[in-house]
Amino acid sequence: MTIDGIPVISPQTLPVINPATGQEMARAPDCTYEHVDAAVLAARRAFPAWRALSTAERSAMLRTAAIILSEHVEALAVLLTSEQGKPLADARSEILGAAFWLKSFAKLELPIHVDEDHAGRRWETRHIPVGVVGAISPWNFPVLLSFFKIAPALAAGNTVVMKPSPYTPLTMLRIGALLGDVLPPGVLNMICGGDQAGPWLTAHPDIDKVSFTGSTPTGKLVLQSAASNLKRVTLELGGNDAAIVLPDVNVAAVAKDLFWAAFRNSGQICVAAKRIYVHADIYDELAAELQVCAAAVVIGEGTDTNAVLGPVQNRMQYKRVLDLIHDCRQNGMRFLTGGEPEPGPGYFISPTIVDNPPEDSRVVREEAFGPLLPLLKYTDIDDAIARANDSEFGLAASIWSGDVEAAVALAPRLEVGTVWINEIQLLSPFHAFAGHKQSGFGVENGLHGMLEYTLPQTITKPGKVER
Ligand code: NAD
Repeated sequence: MTIDGIPVISPQTLPVINPATGQEMARAPDCTYEHVDAAVLAARRAFPAWRALSTAERSAMLRTAAIILSEHVEALAVLLTSEQGKPLADARSEILGAAFWLKSFAKLELPIHVDEDHAGRRWETRHIPVGVVGAISPWNFPVLLSFFKIAPALAAGNTVVMKPSPYTPLTMLRIGALLGDVLPPGVLNMICGGDQAGPWLTAHPDIDKVSFTGSTPTGKLVLQSAASNLKRVTLELGGNDAAIVLPDVNVAAVAKDLFWAAFRNSGQICVAAKRIYVHADIYDELAAELQVCAAAVVIGEGTDTNAVLGPVQNRMQYKRVLDLIHDCRQNGMRFLTGGEPEPGPGYFISPTIVDNPPEDSRVVREEAFGPLLPLLKYTDIDDAIARANDSEFGLAASIWSGDVEAAVALAPRLEVGTVWINEIQLLSPFHAFAGHKQSGFGVENGLHGMLEYTLPQTITKPGKVER
């Protein structure tokens, strides 16, 4: 771990499993409460000097941090692939994505809004850093999703205690050590621990804000825990995103996009297309095209350059996806592709598409978060939209149509934070990403996301009166 700029070991350790082999590949620190406390205190001590720097000074350090990530991309990508499972090319993109997030937030300036300036009186709203941020990330994009938090939090003048998922801690621990040479001690602390570490962080009285990405049930626990001292909270949670495919699409052209929308990163993307609603007129043709896509996919260990899909990241998730597949089989549903685990060690499941399952089946209602996709038929667009909205989740959705403006007109009817038209999974440091309903609380990314790492401060001053 890196606490107060110093490498720290823990007497207890946790196994880290390579999901492609199912074997232990390393042991990671299992921190004690004292480690969490030391990290929070280090962040607290570092805060006054860090916030006092000019934006330009902080930005220069964030840009250097981005360069360090880029310079170490190969070694970091190999480490990420070995603990997460994703193909090496995807791991490289993830590391470079994190560097891009750092560079991008280094460019964003906190606005000063003049609310009123007349008759000699001036009111303005400024945004000052909230303080010490506790950041918690999941295992599907262990690096990028951590930097969705680190980059805006540091740019806005906060200090951070980061806790990656115990399933995938290694790359972030390594990054913590690398950036320890760039950032002042205590500005970014990297800790790692088991089931207690997250709750210790979210309950800590000296944390001012929690930024969490993970599942909806855990997000609710985080919100409860943060209430103890009214910490500010941002939650990016689960999703069950619908893709709606209108009958006027070029089926062959969109099939490939839709296939990857569902199965990229082995379906372990919060904003994967998790339910695809296809107009009945083109359903059979699209189903056949998706079968062609699935047949062409090479699944394997991420270090194999031929592999385009890796394993499911951990045994618990692997068993969950197999359980949902089993439920489909038990209930007589038909598979267009897949439906079986791959032989051999590791947590491999081939892309599995379920042929028009009932709307109330588990595979439609629940977030699989794996390579399992229900393909659903509709005839009436109002019905498709009602079915898309019939979910506790409201993360994102996509609409696929030959008529872009007609698709845009449908977008406001979807109860989600982001709607993509004829594309998917576009996230940017410059644009807000906010889950609706039980998919989130607050905003990540963009100026709105950065402002979540600040508190508004109103400053007034009288005009001509001399004092
Ligand atoms: P998870 O909720 O099990 O764990 C996420 C993180 O929270 C881990 O670091 C974990 O150690 C920590 N944690 C566990 N219990 C905690 C507690 N009580 N208090 C504080 N922290 C705790 O989620 P996961 O299985 O790692 O990730 C998969 C889920 O994340 C899916 O539901 C997926 O949709 C969601 N996700 C959402 C987004 C988004 O931006 N909306 C992005 C990626 C993943």
